[in-house]
Amino acid sequence: MSRHGHSRTPPRRPGPLQLSPAERERYDRQLGPGVLSEEGQLRLKGASALVTRVGGMGGPAAQMLAMAGVGNVIIAHGGEMISPDLNRQVLGSENVLGQPRATEFAAYLRTMNRMINVEAIDHEPDDAEAFELARRCDIILSCPPTFAERLRLNRSAVAAGIPLIDAAQWGMTGTLIVVRPGQTACLQCVYPNEPPFEELFPVVGAISCATGALAALEAIKILSGTGKPLFGRLLTYDGFVGRPSVVELKRNPNCPVCGHI
Ligand SMILES: [Zn+2]
Repeated sequence: MSRHGHSRTPPRRPGPLQLSPAERERYDRQLGPGVLSEEGQLRLKGASALVTRVGGMGGPAAQMLAMAGVGNVIIAHGGEMISPDLNRQVLGSENVLGQPRATEFAAYLRTMNRMINVEAIDHEPDDAEAFELARRCDIILSCPPTFAERLRLNRSAVAAGIPLIDAAQWGMTGTLIVVRPGQTACLQCVYPNEPPFEELFPVVGAISCATGALAALEAIKILSGTGKPLFGRLLTYDGFVGRPSVVELKRNPNCPVCGHI
């Protein structure tokens, strides 16, 4: 169903022809009119999603993908769980303070759904690794705090021709940008110059979690072929005043990342 030479959605790997009785029971509440078809659920099962990082936004995003039945969830995050993470990193708890996040979070995800595979990468991928991961995934959920990482994941997604969902947060505001390479603005079109990075920005866990969950919803829609994804649009929810907004994003024909496709 590829509509573009670089696009690979829905997932490449054909899954089994039908859900098992246990799968049908497990996913019963998300199957039906207005949600997923059985074919859509099978597409999720055959899909691979990379989520990096898995803190305040990526954690709930990875959790929602795992619970929805995405067959292979790859999470990447370096470092150990520390006390200031506890206001938003829902895959961790006080029990794992001081422990490596990727390993602990992956173990927790496996307890939520043993019908899927969870891979843990205990660091943030560099350019080469991000590109290799993109080549074996169907979608990337970009949830890092730094623009350098976000733009790196964008380059990898565009090079591999897979969709990218970029989630960002600050304070009580969350934003989503959903990229379909070659058809919509990519992240580099939107941010031609890397904005300055604030190492320790304020954020409330409720907006992190909401933004991550919405990122997962976009991924579930794209991977399953359900609904209307936010392709080419920027969704902002200003939680401080309770105001959502959506704006169309324009491609930059001279974009060094996607201008040639
Ligand atoms: Zn671009």
